[in-house]
Amino acid sequence: MSQHINVLDMAREQLAVAANFLDLDKGLHSVLSQPIRQLIVHFPVVLDNGEVQVFEGYRVQHNASRGPTKGGIRYHPEVDLDETSALAMWMTWKCAVANIPYGGAKGSVKVDTKKLSKRELEKLTRRYVTEISSMIGERSDIPAPDIGTNAQVMAWVMDTVSMQKGYTVPGCVTGKPIELGGSEGRTEATGRGVVVTMEEAAKVRNLDLSKSKVIVQGFGNVGSTAAKLVEESGATVVGISDAIGGIYNENGLPVHDLFNRYSGRDGGIREYKDAQPVSNAEILEMPCDILIPAAVATQITVDNADKIKAKLIVEGANGPTTPEADHILSDKGVFVVPDILANAGGVVVSYFEWVQDLQNFFWEENEVNAKLTRIMRASFSEVERGMRAHKTDMRTAALIIGVKRVAEATIRRGIFP
Ligand code: GLU
Repeated sequence: MSQHINVLDMAREQLAVAANFLDLDKGLHSVLSQPIRQLIVHFPVVLDNGEVQVFEGYRVQHNASRGPTKGGIRYHPEVDLDETSALAMWMTWKCAVANIPYGGAKGSVKVDTKKLSKRELEKLTRRYVTEISSMIGERSDIPAPDIGTNAQVMAWVMDTVSMQKGYTVPGCVTGKPIELGGSEGRTEATGRGVVVTMEEAAKVRNLDLSKSKVIVQGFGNVGSTAAKLVEESGATVVGISDAIGGIYNENGLPVHDLFNRYSGRDGGIREYKDAQPVSNAEILEMPCDILIPAAVATQITVDNADKIKAKLIVEGANGPTTPEADHILSDKGVFVVPDILANAGGVVVSYFEWVQDLQNFFWEENEVNAKLTRIMRASFSEVERGMRAHKTDMRTAALIIGVKRVAEATIRRGIFP
């Protein structure tokens, strides 16, 4: 077992590699190493049984040089300030790589949502939003869903901000239900973007998708959408896991059926019996051509990187691969499409949602998907060209593009006062 990996150290290590490539000024490098704002809040919620429970939450803005900050809200029992700060930093590079006019942010609350009733979840959300209201707003910092949150939570975020303002502010949060100013295609956007980049990477690696076997770790919003679209792309999904565990069948798994019949059940997809049960760790090492880690961070580490069989890894999660594992994978010739490129589809359609909200003019789903696909393909080919030009891997190439754009914006704007 490896010790606890600090993801903020990981994010800073990645930044240092790009800074070195770009020969970034030392002062500028230290500006980018730190978040511009971190807020820690402790707030009470009256539970259904009348007891008061105090929760800890955070909102972190990493950089605002290219525009308002943007990033999800995560509800998970193991979040902390460092993880939230790392995720905010990754949002900055992600938005810059996709070339959308945002800086990065992230918020989180240390909570196990499975232990809360719907009413408690609503109260927690409204109070958390009130506590961080000095930071968020449609022109300053725009939250969105992440692990443990969904469109309903975003609806409460929007309503809470709107109640405080005295009028409806749909653009203060994205990932809302369609009827409240959400965008068509937003729920599927991250998974859709993952599969678009997977298709592009398969062309580069000469992988015939109709003959490719794919494993998806994670069956939440990103993993389940990606798995369904992988199936539609002609490839075969041979392994899937959810929070409880995974299943593997080299002949393929019926993804749509698994989603419709087993997700949300107590035993999860493990209740499907025509497959070999495997753990969330084992699934990463099972035979396949393409691996999509779409669960949580630090899954591919020094401990298992050399046991991975996939030729191509497409990161649906944020931070699934540690820098040490990156070296091992690169030596083995495994092609890794990094998180800040592969999973940018979510924030790209969040950007579309925000634009639609500000204009009060809404687009059709095929228009959203076509624009998303165009941005994902363009970002992929730009990063791929960078990779060839700098003779490096995709992650470093993506970081170079992202960090360079942010650094240029910072230099152009100058340091106030
Ligand atoms: N939470 C998502 C991410 O990590 C989406 C953020 C957004 O849409 O603002 O990219």
